[in-house]
Amino acid sequence: MEITAIYPGTFDPVTNGHIDIIARAARLYSKVIVAVAVSSNKVPLFDVEQRVKLLEEVTVKFDNVTIIGFDNLLVDCAKQYNVNVILRGLRAISDFEYEFQLAGMNRRLSPDLETVFLTPAEQYEFISSSMIKEIARLDGDVSSFVPKVVQEHLIEKFNRG
Ligand code: ADP
Repeated sequence: MEITAIYPGTFDPVTNGHIDIIARAARLYSKVIVAVAVSSNKVPLFDVEQRVKLLEEVTVKFDNVTIIGFDNLLVDCAKQYNVNVILRGLRAISDFEYEFQLAGMNRRLSPDLETVFLTPAEQYEFISSSMIKEIARLDGDVSSFVPKVVQEHLIEKFNRG
């Protein structure tokens, strides 16, 4: 049986931590759909088209990875793409409570869909998109946390090109 996965998130912007998870997933599953959430609680820095485009650029080397934008309920999106697994990344303990609740809720909504958690390599454990944006906004160096193209977009956004 072919097992396929959907990896949802805001990816505002994609970081080396996300890419580490995508690389691991690409080795595990026959197909990985990275699903960029249009609507998020926070107003994103990059619009969904930009976030999708950046993800496409930094994942070209994985031929079983596809990037999509989505604006509906995750379990419905997963059904639409016929995937078996919802994939989430787990960093420190702090992610656990929210992720546990989300997985439980998604199971209630769609009992056959399994949530699987992957942990990143140690050097990516502390990276979060929100921190990256804050550092970039204050003109800090984010080159070791995000791909070059993302760094360039951040510099452009904060008008320090
Ligand atoms: P969301 O708003 O859905 O949490 P994010 O883009 O922040 O979207 O994260 C998407 C997924 O990737 C989440 O499961 C999150 O825990 C995970 N993630 C984010 N940063 C990292 C990282 N540095 N290492 C591993 N997983 C991460």
